[in-house]
Amino acid sequence: MGWNRKVLRVNLTAGKCTPEPLNMKWANDYLGSRGLASKYLVEETDPRVDPLSPDNKMIMATGPLTGTMASTGGRYVVVTKGPLTNAIACSNSGGYFGAEMKFAGWDMIIFEGRSPKPVYLYLENDRAELRDAAHLWGKTCWETEETIKASHQDPLIRISSVGGAGENGVLYAAIVNDLHRAAGRSGVGTVMGSKNLKAVAIRGTQGVSGIKDFPAFMAATNAGKKVLADNAVTGQGLPKYGTQVLMNVINEMGALPTRNHRDVQFEDAGRISGEAMHEKRPTDGKTHLVANAACFGCTIACGRISKIDETHFSVKNSPKYWGANGGLEYEAAWALGAANGVGDLEALQYANLLCNEHGMDPISFGATVGAAMELYDLGILSKEQIGLDARFGSAEALCKLVEMTAAGEGFGKDLGLGSARMCAKYGRPELSMSVKGQEFPAYDSRGIQGIGLAYATSNRGACHLRGYTIASEVLGIPVKTDPLVTEGKADLVKAFQDATGVVDSAGICVFTTFAWTLADIQPQIQAACEGDWSMEKLNLVGERIWNMERNYNLAAGLTARDDDLPPRLKTEAARSGPAKGMVNGIDKMRPEYYKVRGWTPEGVPESTTLERLGL
Ligand code: SF4
Repeated sequence: MGWNRKVLRVNLTAGKCTPEPLNMKWANDYLGSRGLASKYLVEETDPRVDPLSPDNKMIMATGPLTGTMASTGGRYVVVTKGPLTNAIACSNSGGYFGAEMKFAGWDMIIFEGRSPKPVYLYLENDRAELRDAAHLWGKTCWETEETIKASHQDPLIRISSVGGAGENGVLYAAIVNDLHRAAGRSGVGTVMGSKNLKAVAIRGTQGVSGIKDFPAFMAATNAGKKVLADNAVTGQGLPKYGTQVLMNVINEMGALPTRNHRDVQFEDAGRISGEAMHEKRPTDGKTHLVANAACFGCTIACGRISKIDETHFSVKNSPKYWGANGGLEYEAAWALGAANGVGDLEALQYANLLCNEHGMDPISFGATVGAAMELYDLGILSKEQIGLDARFGSAEALCKLVEMTAAGEGFGKDLGLGSARMCAKYGRPELSMSVKGQEFPAYDSRGIQGIGLAYATSNRGACHLRGYTIASEVLGIPVKTDPLVTEGKADLVKAFQDATGVVDSAGICVFTTFAWTLADIQPQIQAACEGDWSMEKLNLVGERIWNMERNYNLAAGLTARDDDLPPRLKTEAARSGPAKGMVNGIDKMRPEYYKVRGWTPEGVPESTTLERLGL
């Protein structure tokens, strides 16, 4: 049946853990993970709740394929109302934590209230206890994992935790699991920190039982693995180069946002690319990349294991960073690198390590540094205000600023606000490259038109993972569309957004969709879960999830005005590359998109749409 049918409700205010049955009617309507956890949030919280108040809830959830033999079936999500966006937030992570939650017998953990003192949840199969975390408060995510494992004398415990960023209210704090995997976006770690919940530690020994039709499930998952292995992206490109394989590709397209989106091509893109990770360094003759790595059950293995140059200025006096560590992926390498004009791969790795260690989203952090560097370049921020020379391209400034933000010191406090609040504070709100307060990922929408619409309409603020039209507009998956035109992008964005709702809710990784369509995933869900999971139903579930999230945001006070791009992308033409002279056509695409969605011109779902979706 895919689900364990069990929810753990943790009332942090009262210090009580209570099991309850999973609402199977909702599971049938929303599948699991993102969709199902969002349904619980929608039903149980006031959309106007202050994200950092005890009345907000934070839900950790798995999907029916999490912990199974399905490739990439290790994902879990964190759903809450996000402090960066004031919108619904759903952040997804790989590693091993999600599978462990399933092995312990739980589909979902709902955290409510606020603990009067720091605690962590210890969950060992049916045993659930809130334990004192006074000794963990102030520790990094890495120290927290190590300390909990040592105190329980069990190295196999899987842990998700917040670091200093989540404790100190950095608005894009992440929840880090397995040292280098994170539910990174939208400030879900800030909510966890606000609840005085330092960590969730899980040990599960029950495996996953109850797959509805086991022979059919094995046949479907094996067929899916073959498709992944035979595909050039998932079988070769991602394992060899990781997601950073995109750096040179996107740069050549003139869609690599550079220096806070002033430029669309970065002269040092090659130095921070997936290919560069394989090159021997002149300093020590070693490659940056040591090996690739995989999350639970993943047959793609896009993860990177890297070793930083021990002589690099950032770490030469810090041996703790010298060993093999989780490495860069494309988004982090872009946000820490091109977004700031920094082409020093070792500096990016150091900044990325600190983001993992202290629990910060490297995309929002890096992009916020880019905005600060532009404010500095314009003379709005001075060297005295920032505390250093923060010119574009300065690796030294990047490394110092990540230390300051992690520690909540000096100008690091302003960086911890995110670019929208920081730019507004200094009188230039238009310089924040964000939607709904969340910073853009690594694609410039002047050179890839459809992704601009996906960013603008994303329910969790600017995000590539809510509708990854890059697959079609850049890689031709499942069909090639012209990145420079707006025609047809409304339909394309809707199709990607709805399909991603299903992928996320199943408990698998969105990178499978470089090779899989829903037709590859459907037989896996059908064999795992009781009931009908036809293509028709899955398409409806994806659309239902999207509209449910939309309704929550509207009730939270967001409007069509929040479905927009910063003026730079609409008025300042790309200065080089294939899109030279172009701006993004969001104002043309948005009304088309509303129509395709069955929404009013104000972006509100029509009653007929809601009725059709059972909302
Ligand atoms: S493709 Fe990469 S991110 Fe996705 S599950 Fe596999 S290793 Fe993890």
